[in-house]
Amino acid sequence: MNAYVERVIENVKKKNPYEPEFIQTVEEVLSSLSPVVDAHPEYEQADLLGRMVIPERIFTFRVCWQDDSGKVQTNTGYRVQFNGALGPFKGGLRFAPSVYPGMLKFLGFEQTFKNSLTGLPIGGAKGGADFDPTGKSDSEIMRFCQAFMTALYRYIGPDVDVPAGDMGVGSREIGFLFGQYRRLKGAWENGVLTGKGLSYGGSLIRPEATGYGAIYYLNEVLKHENDTIEGKTIAVSGFGNVAWGICKKAAALGAKVVTISGRNGYVYDKDGVNTEEKLNFMLDMRSSNRHRIEDYAEKFGVPFYKGEKPWGVKADIYMPSATQNEVNLDDAKKIVASGSKYYIEVSNMPTSNEALNFMRSQKGFIVAPSKAANAGGVGVSALEMCQNSERLSWSEEEVDAQLHRMMENIVASSAKAAEEYGLGYDLVAGANIAGFLKVADAMLAQGIF
Ligand code: GLU
Repeated sequence: MNAYVERVIENVKKKNPYEPEFIQTVEEVLSSLSPVVDAHPEYEQADLLGRMVIPERIFTFRVCWQDDSGKVQTNTGYRVQFNGALGPFKGGLRFAPSVYPGMLKFLGFEQTFKNSLTGLPIGGAKGGADFDPTGKSDSEIMRFCQAFMTALYRYIGPDVDVPAGDMGVGSREIGFLFGQYRRLKGAWENGVLTGKGLSYGGSLIRPEATGYGAIYYLNEVLKHENDTIEGKTIAVSGFGNVAWGICKKAAALGAKVVTISGRNGYVYDKDGVNTEEKLNFMLDMRSSNRHRIEDYAEKFGVPFYKGEKPWGVKADIYMPSATQNEVNLDDAKKIVASGSKYYIEVSNMPTSNEALNFMRSQKGFIVAPSKAANAGGVGVSALEMCQNSERLSWSEEEVDAQLHRMMENIVASSAKAAEEYGLGYDLVAGANIAGFLKVADAMLAQGIF
Protein backbone atom coordinates (compact mmCIF):
# COMPACT_ATOMS: atom_id res chain seq x y z
CA MET A 1 0.00 0.00 0.00
CA ASN A 2 1.11 3.60 -0.63
CA ALA A 3 3.13 4.83 2.38
CA TYR A 4 1.23 8.11 2.69
CA VAL A 5 -2.11 6.26 2.68
CA GLU A 6 -0.81 3.95 5.39
CA ARG A 7 0.34 6.87 7.52
CA VAL A 8 -3.05 8.60 7.28
CA ILE A 9 -4.87 5.38 8.27
CA GLU A 10 -2.53 4.85 11.24
CA ASN A 11 -3.09 8.41 12.35
CA VAL A 12 -6.88 8.04 12.17
CA LYS A 13 -6.65 4.88 14.29
CA LYS A 14 -4.52 6.69 16.85
CA LYS A 15 -6.70 9.80 17.00
CA ASN A 16 -10.09 8.04 17.06
CA PRO A 17 -9.58 4.98 19.24
CA TYR A 18 -13.20 4.82 20.42
CA GLU A 19 -14.76 5.14 16.97
CA PRO A 20 -14.47 1.70 15.31
CA GLU A 21 -16.98 2.39 12.51
CA PHE A 22 -15.13 5.53 11.52
CA ILE A 23 -11.81 3.66 11.41
CA GLN A 24 -13.51 0.92 9.37
CA THR A 25 -14.74 3.25 6.64
CA VAL A 26 -11.47 5.18 6.49
CA GLU A 27 -9.51 1.94 6.07
CA GLU A 28 -11.89 0.67 3.40
CA VAL A 29 -11.96 3.88 1.37
CA LEU A 30 -8.33 4.92 1.68
CA SER A 31 -6.97 1.50 0.78
CA SER A 32 -8.82 1.81 -2.56
CA LEU A 33 -7.09 5.13 -3.16
CA SER A 34 -3.57 3.74 -2.97
CA PRO A 35 -3.02 3.55 -6.77
CA VAL A 36 -4.46 7.06 -7.19
CA VAL A 37 -2.07 8.56 -4.66
CA ASP A 38 0.80 6.63 -6.30
CA ALA A 39 -0.05 8.31 -9.59
CA HIS A 40 -0.71 11.78 -8.12
CA PRO A 41 1.99 12.95 -5.71
CA GLU A 42 0.26 16.36 -5.60
CA TYR A 43 -2.37 14.88 -3.29
CA GLU A 44 0.25 14.04 -0.70
CA GLN A 45 1.92 17.43 -1.22
CA ALA A 46 -1.40 19.08 -0.31
CA ASP A 47 -2.05 16.54 2.49
CA LEU A 48 -5.40 15.93 0.88
CA LEU A 49 -6.12 12.64 2.64
CA GLY A 50 -5.09 14.02 6.03
CA ARG A 51 -7.53 16.87 5.46
CA MET A 52 -10.36 14.67 4.19
CA VAL A 53 -10.46 12.45 7.28
CA ILE A 54 -11.20 15.37 9.60
CA PRO A 55 -14.70 16.88 9.47
CA GLU A 56 -14.82 20.60 8.64
CA ARG A 57 -16.79 21.01 11.88
CA ILE A 58 -19.00 19.12 14.33
CA PHE A 59 -21.77 20.63 16.44
CA THR A 60 -22.87 18.91 19.65
CA PHE A 61 -25.90 20.19 21.50
CA ARG A 62 -28.26 19.44 24.37
CA VAL A 63 -31.85 18.60 23.47
CA CYS A 64 -34.41 18.78 26.30
CA TRP A 65 -38.07 17.99 25.88
CA GLN A 66 -41.06 16.94 27.96
CA ASP A 67 -42.61 13.50 27.61
CA ASP A 68 -46.37 12.93 27.78
CA SER A 69 -46.27 12.57 31.56
CA GLY A 70 -44.61 15.98 31.90
CA LYS A 71 -41.20 14.58 32.83
CA VAL A 72 -38.17 16.28 31.32
CA GLN A 73 -36.07 14.08 29.01
CA THR A 74 -32.55 14.97 27.94
CA ASN A 75 -30.71 13.85 24.81
CA THR A 76 -27.60 14.81 22.89
CA GLY A 77 -27.85 16.05 19.31
CA TYR A 78 -25.10 16.35 16.69
CA ARG A 79 -24.39 17.63 13.22
CA VAL A 80 -21.17 16.59 11.51
CA GLN A 81 -20.41 18.88 8.54
CA PHE A 82 -17.83 16.65 6.95
CA ASN A 83 -16.85 18.13 3.62
CA GLY A 84 -18.34 21.14 1.86
CA ALA A 85 -16.04 21.36 -1.16
CA LEU A 86 -18.71 20.36 -3.70
CA GLY A 87 -21.74 22.22 -2.36
CA PRO A 88 -23.84 22.83 0.76
CA PHE A 89 -23.40 20.09 3.36
CA LYS A 90 -26.01 17.41 2.72
CA GLY A 91 -26.97 14.25 4.55
CA GLY A 92 -29.52 12.68 6.82
CA LEU A 93 -30.38 12.83 10.50
CA ARG A 94 -30.44 9.60 12.47
CA PHE A 95 -32.47 9.22 15.67
CA ALA A 96 -31.44 6.06 17.54
CA PRO A 97 -30.17 5.33 21.06
CA SER A 98 -26.86 4.07 19.62
CA VAL A 99 -26.01 7.40 17.93
CA TYR A 100 -22.64 8.85 19.00
CA PRO A 101 -20.05 11.01 17.22
CA GLY A 102 -18.12 8.01 15.79
CA MET A 103 -21.23 6.71 14.03
CA LEU A 104 -22.06 10.09 12.54
CA LYS A 105 -18.43 10.58 11.46
CA PHE A 106 -18.47 7.27 9.58
CA LEU A 107 -21.77 8.20 7.96
CA GLY A 108 -20.59 11.73 7.11
CA PHE A 109 -17.37 10.43 5.57
CA GLU A 110 -19.28 7.92 3.42
CA GLN A 111 -21.79 10.63 2.53
CA THR A 112 -19.04 12.85 1.11
CA PHE A 113 -18.06 10.20 -1.44
CA LYS A 114 -21.66 9.19 -2.12
CA ASN A 115 -22.78 12.75 -2.77
CA SER A 116 -19.82 13.29 -5.07
CA LEU A 117 -20.85 10.19 -7.05
CA THR A 118 -24.33 11.62 -7.72
CA GLY A 119 -22.65 14.22 -9.93
CA LEU A 120 -24.70 16.94 -8.21
CA PRO A 121 -23.32 19.90 -6.20
CA ILE A 122 -23.67 18.63 -2.63
CA GLY A 123 -21.13 18.27 0.18
CA GLY A 124 -21.24 15.53 2.82
CA ALA A 125 -22.76 15.66 6.32
CA LYS A 126 -24.66 13.59 8.85
CA GLY A 127 -26.40 14.30 12.11
CA GLY A 128 -28.87 13.04 14.61
CA ALA A 129 -29.45 12.30 18.25
CA ASP A 130 -29.35 9.45 20.76
CA PHE A 131 -33.15 9.68 20.94
CA ASP A 132 -35.09 6.41 20.76
CA PRO A 133 -38.35 6.82 18.79
CA THR A 134 -39.57 3.34 19.83
CA GLY A 135 -42.92 3.61 21.55
CA LYS A 136 -43.03 7.42 21.50
CA SER A 137 -46.33 9.18 20.83
CA ASP A 138 -46.75 11.62 17.95
CA SER A 139 -46.73 14.54 20.40
CA GLU A 140 -43.50 13.33 21.98
CA ILE A 141 -41.90 13.01 18.55
CA MET A 142 -43.06 16.53 17.72
CA ARG A 143 -41.70 18.04 20.93
CA PHE A 144 -38.39 16.26 20.46
CA CYS A 145 -38.09 17.44 16.84
CA GLN A 146 -38.92 21.01 17.84
CA ALA A 147 -36.31 20.99 20.61
CA PHE A 148 -33.76 19.44 18.25
CA MET A 149 -34.34 22.08 15.58
CA THR A 150 -34.25 24.90 18.13
CA ALA A 151 -30.68 23.87 18.87
CA LEU A 152 -29.70 23.16 15.25
CA TYR A 153 -31.35 25.90 13.17
CA ARG A 154 -28.60 28.49 13.36
CA TYR A 155 -26.06 26.12 11.78
CA ILE A 156 -28.05 25.07 8.71
CA GLY A 157 -29.63 26.77 5.69
CA PRO A 158 -30.30 26.22 1.97
CA ASP A 159 -26.77 27.30 1.00
CA VAL A 160 -25.10 26.05 4.18
CA ASP A 161 -26.32 22.61 5.20
CA VAL A 162 -29.45 20.73 4.16
CA PRO A 163 -30.40 17.84 6.47
CA ALA A 164 -32.82 15.04 5.54
CA GLY A 165 -34.04 11.76 6.97
CA ASP A 166 -32.19 8.61 7.91
CA MET A 167 -33.00 5.85 10.41
CA GLY A 168 -35.70 7.06 12.81
CA VAL A 169 -36.35 10.19 10.75
CA GLY A 170 -39.06 9.99 8.07
CA SER A 171 -41.55 12.39 6.58
CA ARG A 172 -43.38 12.93 9.88
CA GLU A 173 -40.17 14.02 11.64
CA ILE A 174 -39.09 16.16 8.67
CA GLY A 175 -42.47 17.92 8.85
CA PHE A 176 -42.01 18.78 12.53
CA LEU A 177 -38.39 19.86 11.98
CA PHE A 178 -39.34 22.03 9.01
CA GLY A 179 -42.23 23.66 10.89
CA GLN A 180 -39.93 24.60 13.76
CA TYR A 181 -37.25 25.95 11.41
CA ARG A 182 -39.87 28.11 9.68
CA ARG A 183 -41.20 29.35 13.00
CA LEU A 184 -37.72 30.30 14.23
CA LYS A 185 -36.55 31.95 11.02
CA GLY A 186 -39.83 33.59 10.10
CA ALA A 187 -39.20 32.53 6.51
CA TRP A 188 -40.06 29.69 4.18
CA GLU A 189 -36.52 28.97 3.12
CA ASN A 190 -36.25 26.94 -0.05
CA GLY A 191 -34.83 23.50 0.36
CA VAL A 192 -33.50 23.80 3.92
CA LEU A 193 -34.57 20.20 4.51
CA THR A 194 -35.33 17.46 2.01
CA GLY A 195 -37.71 14.54 2.21
CA LYS A 196 -40.48 17.08 2.83
CA GLY A 197 -44.15 16.21 2.34
CA LEU A 198 -45.61 16.81 -1.13
CA SER A 199 -47.90 19.55 0.19
CA TYR A 200 -44.98 21.79 1.20
CA GLY A 201 -42.18 21.39 -1.30
CA GLY A 202 -41.32 17.69 -1.27
CA SER A 203 -40.36 15.87 -4.43
CA LEU A 204 -42.28 13.05 -6.05
CA ILE A 205 -40.30 9.78 -5.93
CA ARG A 206 -38.16 10.91 -2.96
CA PRO A 207 -39.63 8.23 -0.62
CA GLU A 208 -38.99 5.54 -3.24
CA ALA A 209 -35.66 6.92 -4.46
CA THR A 210 -33.13 4.91 -2.43
CA GLY A 211 -34.80 1.57 -3.15
CA TYR A 212 -35.58 2.35 -6.80
CA GLY A 213 -32.05 3.64 -7.30
CA ALA A 214 -30.58 0.43 -5.83
CA ILE A 215 -32.64 -1.65 -8.27
CA TYR A 216 -31.58 0.57 -11.20
CA TYR A 217 -27.99 0.08 -10.06
CA LEU A 218 -28.52 -3.70 -9.88
CA ASN A 219 -29.97 -3.64 -13.38
CA GLU A 220 -26.78 -2.07 -14.75
CA VAL A 221 -24.71 -4.78 -13.06
CA LEU A 222 -26.96 -7.49 -14.49
CA LYS A 223 -26.66 -5.94 -17.95
CA HIS A 224 -22.89 -6.05 -17.64
CA GLU A 225 -23.19 -9.79 -16.95
CA ASN A 226 -25.66 -10.32 -19.82
CA ASP A 227 -28.26 -11.22 -17.24
CA THR A 228 -31.74 -9.84 -16.45
CA ILE A 229 -33.72 -9.15 -13.30
CA GLU A 230 -36.88 -10.96 -14.36
CA GLY A 231 -37.60 -14.04 -12.27
CA LYS A 232 -34.75 -13.39 -9.82
CA THR A 233 -35.17 -13.92 -6.09
CA ILE A 234 -33.72 -11.28 -3.78
CA ALA A 235 -32.89 -11.60 -0.07
CA VAL A 236 -33.32 -8.20 1.57
CA SER A 237 -32.75 -7.22 5.20
CA GLY A 238 -34.57 -4.40 6.95
CA PHE A 239 -38.19 -3.36 6.54
CA GLY A 240 -37.94 0.42 6.45
CA ASN A 241 -38.22 2.95 3.69
CA VAL A 242 -35.26 1.59 1.72
CA ALA A 243 -36.40 -2.07 1.80
CA TRP A 244 -39.90 -0.92 0.82
CA GLY A 245 -38.61 0.88 -2.30
CA ILE A 246 -36.61 -2.19 -3.30
CA CYS A 247 -39.63 -4.50 -2.91
CA LYS A 248 -41.83 -2.13 -4.92
CA LYS A 249 -39.46 -1.73 -7.88
CA ALA A 250 -38.37 -5.40 -7.85
CA ALA A 251 -42.04 -6.43 -8.04
CA ALA A 252 -42.66 -4.03 -10.93
CA LEU A 253 -39.75 -5.58 -12.85
CA GLY A 254 -40.76 -9.20 -12.24
CA ALA A 255 -38.30 -10.08 -9.46
CA LYS A 256 -39.27 -11.40 -6.02
CA VAL A 257 -38.03 -10.14 -2.66
CA VAL A 258 -38.30 -13.24 -0.48
CA THR A 259 -37.02 -11.92 2.86
CA ILE A 260 -37.33 -8.79 4.95
CA SER A 261 -36.07 -8.48 8.51
CA GLY A 262 -36.22 -6.60 11.78
CA ARG A 263 -33.92 -6.37 14.78
CA ASN A 264 -34.92 -9.77 16.14
CA GLY A 265 -35.35 -11.98 13.10
CA TYR A 266 -36.47 -12.28 9.50
CA VAL A 267 -39.53 -13.44 7.59
CA TYR A 268 -39.41 -15.67 4.52
CA ASP A 269 -42.15 -14.99 2.00
CA LYS A 270 -41.70 -17.43 -0.87
CA ASP A 271 -44.34 -15.66 -2.97
CA GLY A 272 -42.47 -12.37 -2.67
CA VAL A 273 -43.22 -9.09 -0.91
CA ASN A 274 -45.01 -7.85 -3.98
CA THR A 275 -48.70 -7.08 -3.52
CA GLU A 276 -50.03 -3.64 -2.73
CA GLU A 277 -51.33 -4.97 0.58
CA LYS A 278 -47.89 -6.29 1.60
CA LEU A 279 -46.12 -3.12 0.52
CA ASN A 280 -48.57 -0.93 2.43
CA PHE A 281 -48.22 -3.17 5.47
CA MET A 282 -44.48 -2.47 5.46
CA LEU A 283 -45.22 1.25 5.67
CA ASP A 284 -47.61 0.65 8.60
CA MET A 285 -45.01 -1.44 10.43
CA ARG A 286 -42.48 1.35 10.11
CA SER A 287 -44.75 4.20 11.13
CA SER A 288 -46.04 2.24 14.14
CA ASN A 289 -42.51 2.44 15.68
CA ARG A 290 -43.12 -1.02 17.15
CA HIS A 291 -40.15 -2.63 15.39
CA ARG A 292 -41.99 -5.96 15.12
CA ILE A 293 -41.33 -7.87 11.91
CA GLU A 294 -43.35 -10.76 13.45
CA ASP A 295 -46.43 -8.68 12.62
CA TYR A 296 -45.79 -9.40 8.91
CA ALA A 297 -45.45 -13.15 9.54
CA GLU A 298 -48.71 -13.21 11.52
CA LYS A 299 -50.61 -11.13 8.99
CA PHE A 300 -49.53 -13.05 5.87
CA GLY A 301 -49.03 -16.53 7.34
CA VAL A 302 -45.34 -16.84 6.46
CA PRO A 303 -42.52 -18.22 8.65
CA PHE A 304 -40.60 -15.96 11.05
CA TYR A 305 -37.04 -16.93 12.02
CA LYS A 306 -36.38 -15.47 15.43
CA GLY A 307 -32.90 -14.18 16.16
CA GLU A 308 -31.64 -14.98 12.65
CA LYS A 309 -30.44 -12.92 9.72
CA PRO A 310 -31.59 -13.77 6.18
CA TRP A 311 -28.10 -14.55 4.82
CA GLY A 312 -28.52 -18.32 5.00
CA VAL A 313 -31.51 -18.21 2.66
CA LYS A 314 -30.91 -19.26 -0.93
CA ALA A 315 -31.46 -16.36 -3.32
CA ASP A 316 -30.09 -15.05 -6.61
CA ILE A 317 -29.22 -11.63 -5.22
CA TYR A 318 -28.45 -10.34 -1.71
CA MET A 319 -29.24 -6.77 -0.75
CA PRO A 320 -28.53 -5.83 2.89
CA SER A 321 -30.71 -2.80 3.58
CA ALA A 322 -31.01 -2.56 7.35
CA THR A 323 -27.98 -1.01 9.04
CA GLN A 324 -24.18 -0.97 9.41
CA ASN A 325 -22.19 -4.17 9.99
CA GLU A 326 -25.06 -6.56 9.46
CA VAL A 327 -22.97 -8.94 7.32
CA ASN A 328 -19.93 -10.51 8.96
CA LEU A 329 -17.45 -13.06 7.61
CA ASP A 330 -19.67 -16.06 8.44
CA ASP A 331 -22.62 -14.44 6.71
CA ALA A 332 -20.46 -13.62 3.69
CA LYS A 333 -19.37 -17.26 3.45
CA LYS A 334 -23.00 -18.36 3.43
CA ILE A 335 -23.85 -15.85 0.72
CA VAL A 336 -20.98 -16.99 -1.51
CA ALA A 337 -21.77 -20.68 -0.83
CA SER A 338 -25.36 -20.15 -2.01
CA GLY A 339 -24.07 -19.97 -5.57
CA SER A 340 -25.31 -16.40 -6.02
CA LYS A 341 -22.95 -13.97 -7.69
CA TYR A 342 -24.53 -10.65 -6.80
CA TYR A 343 -24.10 -8.79 -3.52
CA ILE A 344 -25.47 -5.27 -3.63
CA GLU A 345 -24.95 -3.27 -0.43
CA VAL A 346 -27.74 -0.81 0.22
CA SER A 347 -27.63 0.22 3.89
CA ASN A 348 -24.60 2.34 4.75
CA MET A 349 -21.54 0.10 5.35
CA PRO A 350 -23.50 -3.11 5.97
CA THR A 351 -20.42 -5.30 5.59
CA SER A 352 -17.45 -5.74 7.91
CA ASN A 353 -14.16 -5.11 6.09
CA GLU A 354 -13.20 -8.73 6.62
CA ALA A 355 -16.42 -9.94 4.98
CA LEU A 356 -16.11 -7.38 2.20
CA ASN A 357 -12.55 -8.40 1.36
CA PHE A 358 -13.58 -12.07 1.40
CA MET A 359 -16.39 -11.47 -1.08
CA ARG A 360 -14.29 -9.21 -3.29
CA SER A 361 -11.65 -11.91 -3.58
CA GLN A 362 -14.11 -14.48 -4.98
CA LYS A 363 -13.69 -14.84 -8.72
CA GLY A 364 -16.79 -13.90 -10.72
CA PHE A 365 -18.63 -12.66 -7.61
CA ILE A 366 -19.80 -9.06 -7.90
CA VAL A 367 -19.88 -6.70 -4.94
CA ALA A 368 -21.52 -3.29 -5.21
CA PRO A 369 -20.79 -0.71 -2.50
CA SER A 370 -23.56 1.07 -0.62
CA LYS A 371 -22.14 4.54 -1.17
CA ALA A 372 -22.92 4.04 -4.87
CA ALA A 373 -25.95 1.74 -4.82
CA ASN A 374 -27.88 3.83 -2.28
CA ALA A 375 -26.92 7.22 -3.72
CA GLY A 376 -30.30 7.61 -5.45
CA GLY A 377 -31.86 8.76 -2.16
CA VAL A 378 -29.63 11.74 -1.62
CA GLY A 379 -29.53 12.25 -5.40
CA VAL A 380 -33.28 12.85 -5.47
CA SER A 381 -32.86 15.05 -2.38
CA ALA A 382 -30.60 17.22 -4.51
CA LEU A 383 -33.31 17.25 -7.19
CA GLU A 384 -35.77 18.35 -4.48
CA MET A 385 -33.45 21.28 -3.63
CA CYS A 386 -33.33 22.14 -7.30
CA GLN A 387 -37.13 22.12 -7.67
CA ASN A 388 -37.46 24.23 -4.49
CA SER A 389 -35.08 26.88 -5.75
CA GLU A 390 -36.91 27.01 -9.08
CA ARG A 391 -40.20 27.12 -7.16
CA LEU A 392 -41.81 24.39 -9.21
CA SER A 393 -42.26 20.65 -9.09
CA TRP A 394 -41.37 18.08 -11.66
CA SER A 395 -43.59 15.17 -12.63
CA GLU A 396 -43.05 11.66 -11.31
CA GLU A 397 -41.78 10.57 -14.74
CA GLU A 398 -39.27 13.42 -14.87
CA VAL A 399 -37.80 12.71 -11.43
CA ASP A 400 -37.74 8.96 -12.04
CA ALA A 401 -36.01 9.44 -15.40
CA GLN A 402 -33.36 11.65 -13.77
CA LEU A 403 -32.86 9.12 -10.99
CA HIS A 404 -32.48 6.36 -13.56
CA ARG A 405 -29.86 8.31 -15.52
CA MET A 406 -28.03 9.19 -12.31
CA MET A 407 -27.73 5.52 -11.32
CA GLU A 408 -26.54 4.54 -14.80
CA ASN A 409 -23.88 7.24 -14.59
CA ILE A 410 -22.77 6.13 -11.13
CA VAL A 411 -22.20 2.56 -12.27
CA ALA A 412 -20.48 3.73 -15.47
CA SER A 413 -18.19 6.23 -13.74
CA SER A 414 -17.26 3.70 -11.03
CA ALA A 415 -16.45 1.02 -13.61
CA LYS A 416 -14.43 3.51 -15.66
CA ALA A 417 -12.41 4.77 -12.68
CA ALA A 418 -11.46 1.22 -11.64
CA GLU A 419 -10.57 0.35 -15.22
CA GLU A 420 -8.34 3.42 -15.52
CA TYR A 421 -6.31 2.32 -12.51
CA GLY A 422 -5.95 -1.22 -13.85
CA LEU A 423 -8.36 -2.80 -11.38
CA GLY A 424 -10.83 -4.36 -13.84
CA TYR A 425 -14.59 -4.42 -13.08
CA ASP A 426 -14.18 -3.42 -9.43
CA LEU A 427 -17.23 -1.37 -8.41
CA VAL A 428 -16.03 -0.97 -4.82
CA ALA A 429 -12.66 0.59 -5.61
CA GLY A 430 -14.16 2.40 -8.60
CA ALA A 431 -16.77 4.19 -6.46
CA ASN A 432 -14.14 5.25 -3.95
CA ILE A 433 -11.84 6.54 -6.68
CA ALA A 434 -14.50 8.34 -8.73
CA GLY A 435 -16.03 9.88 -5.59
CA PHE A 436 -12.63 10.94 -4.30
CA LEU A 437 -11.28 12.55 -7.48
CA LYS A 438 -14.05 15.10 -7.73
CA VAL A 439 -13.81 16.16 -4.08
CA ALA A 440 -9.99 16.20 -4.23
CA ASP A 441 -9.90 18.42 -7.28
CA ALA A 442 -12.43 20.83 -5.78
CA MET A 443 -10.38 21.01 -2.57
CA LEU A 444 -7.16 21.64 -4.47
CA ALA A 445 -8.82 24.40 -6.49
CA GLN A 446 -10.17 26.10 -3.36
CA GLY A 447 -6.76 26.47 -1.71
CA ILE A 448 -5.52 25.42 1.66
CA PHE A 449 -8.09 25.25 4.44
N1 GLU B 1 -29.82 9.46 4.81
C1 GLU B 1 -29.81 9.26 3.39
C2 GLU B 1 -28.44 8.79 2.95
O1 GLU B 1 -27.83 8.01 3.66
C3 GLU B 1 -30.34 10.46 2.63
C4 GLU B 1 -29.63 11.73 2.83
C5 GLU B 1 -30.27 12.91 2.12
O2 GLU B 1 -31.24 12.75 1.40
O3 GLU B 1 -29.75 14.02 2.31
O4 GLU B 1 -27.93 9.09 1.91
